[in-house]
Amino acid sequence: MNITVIGTGYVGLVSGVCFSEIGNNVICVDNNPEKVALLREGNVPIYEPGLKELMNANMKAGRLSFTEDIGEAINRSDIIIIAVGTPSLPNGEANLSYVELVAKQIGSHIDSYKIIMTKSTVPVGTNDRIQEWISSLTQHAFDMASVPEFLREGTAVKDTLYPDRIVIGTASERAVATLKELHQPLTDQIITTDIRSAEMIKYASNAFLATKISFINEISNICEKVGADVSRVAEGMGYDKRIGSSFLKAGIGYGGSCFPKDTQALIQIAGNVDYDFKLLKSVVEVNKDQRFNVIRKLEEALDVLDGKQIAVWGLAFKPDTDDVRDAPAIEIIQRLLDQGATVKAYDPIATENFRKEVDSPAISWASSAMEAARDADALCVLTEWKEFMEVDLAELAAHMDQPILIDGRNIYEEDQIKDTPFQYYSVGRPGLT
Ligand code: NAD
Repeated sequence: MNITVIGTGYVGLVSGVCFSEIGNNVICVDNNPEKVALLREGNVPIYEPGLKELMNANMKAGRLSFTEDIGEAINRSDIIIIAVGTPSLPNGEANLSYVELVAKQIGSHIDSYKIIMTKSTVPVGTNDRIQEWISSLTQHAFDMASVPEFLREGTAVKDTLYPDRIVIGTASERAVATLKELHQPLTDQIITTDIRSAEMIKYASNAFLATKISFINEISNICEKVGADVSRVAEGMGYDKRIGSSFLKAGIGYGGSCFPKDTQALIQIAGNVDYDFKLLKSVVEVNKDQRFNVIRKLEEALDVLDGKQIAVWGLAFKPDTDDVRDAPAIEIIQRLLDQGATVKAYDPIATENFRKEVDSPAISWASSAMEAARDADALCVLTEWKEFMEVDLAELAAHMDQPILIDGRNIYEEDQIKDTPFQYYSVGRPGLT
């Protein structure tokens, strides 16, 4: 099939590459000329394991190309995929200005029947608005479909090539048939539904996963007070098939470009129809506070943070990505600086992106984990990168001024810690602190 993907971010680029990998001709469009130039040279502007190799192989095979020219791409395609960003507005609602602009560009360029497939996460009813935006500018026939994206950054290629399910929301039988055929090589688990249900499936899924995370984080806070171990509790719960073990890892809460904005957007969607989504509001509130347990534990260990040097390991919101959007590290480091501490930070790949969000003369940027820890009064682990799990803890302690370790992601086990000089704080495992 001939496909145009509009937006070459984490979703658009990975989708475009994977659709070309299964034999389609894909043109990826972006309005950022620097990005398009990089991509044309075979370079990937984001970090995503396996993406660069797959992209270059498909470019070489002639199935994948990049352009800024949206009109030409649309003319050459049967399916147009919208994959631009929908970031939060200050009131929590999704900012639909990028989607609206793209819809109007489609409307002014469409020259024959197309299927317009929205992958961007958009509030319920948005695809109807997209349909109107396009229709207002063209007489040509087209069908709308909402096909929400569920990939996770860090495993995006695998998630796209082997998805748990594909949701196709459309009122058009013709679009169902074509989009089923497009996705069949990826999975048999294809759910077809109406557009609004498809839009809601995306928000409900993310809200549910966020709820699991906040739930186990609250359990971990109680575990710390009653002497239970949250990792054993989660294990015991997770074997129950009705519960499942994923997203039951206690830590410093969720971040990233999806859960924070999608939970806020769903609260707004509910509010717009006079529904007070109390449960989700609490999930968000719990998540906002959970990250500051790191600060509370530092204060417990060091008393005052003013004048202390704190090492921070991990800036990305999760491992295997360079994405720092809404990463807990942003607010934790800001709070450390507010309290007069200096910070030495290290992340294997996200430092450059992070510095665009937070920079200060009180932060120095280390080029290795050990360098960040050198002479520190305490070390905070904020992202569970594999390389942090593999460090020699005795050597690490010897590098630091005070062997205080705040493990915000529970990456170390008791037998790793017990023979070290560390004063160790983890999440919901009071026996280890
Ligand atoms: P992103 O910000 O990484 O990428 C968006 C891209 O769109 C950018 O490259 C930007 O230059 C481009 N763009 C914006 N306006 C354009 C226009 N008019 N023409 C051409 N290109 C344009 O965003 P993302 O993380 O890929 O997310 C895209 C959508 O997918 C969002 O709605 C998001 O909620 C959703 N989503 C994201 C993830 C994720 O893990 N990142 C997962 C599932 C769903």
